[in-house]
Amino acid sequence: MKPVYHVSISAALGLIFIIFFNSFVAAISCFFCGVLIDLDHHLDYFLAKDEIPWRYRDLVYFCSTDKNHKMYLWFHSYESLVLLWGAITVFNLDMLWIGAAVGFTVHVICDQFSNPLHPLVYFLTYRIKYNFSKEKLLDKNFFKQVRPY
Ligand SMILES: [Zn+2]
Repeated sequence: MKPVYHVSISAALGLIFIIFFNSFVAAISCFFCGVLIDLDHHLDYFLAKDEIPWRYRDLVYFCSTDKNHKMYLWFHSYESLVLLWGAITVFNLDMLWIGAAVGFTVHVICDQFSNPLHPLVYFLTYRIKYNFSKEKLLDKNFFKQVRPY
């Protein structure tokens, strides 16, 4: 999903936290977590190319066409969500954490339904099973379907 959509959705969720829960801190944490978990794409790029993707175009091209590198995406995983929501429940964490978890969760779900990937790709264990190989994880047609820009 394009960043502009994550920004819009996360901002709307932040407004909900302000209006219905009177929690500015949850709104801020929701917004930033809903947007910034995509930084793991930058980390994958850096690990593959040993440089920072300064241009968004380079990052999109890397993610959608370059199949010879690993796809770690550490933050895009349901296992992380379970750990985060479990920690919130067990340790009775406050609205800062709940806002972050909502932003994080909605981000992953939106990606799940908007990106043409195998449904299990959003499980870290599935990516581990395929040794994070982008070529093995992504459908053979993926690289034909996605236009880099
Ligand atoms: Zn994402």
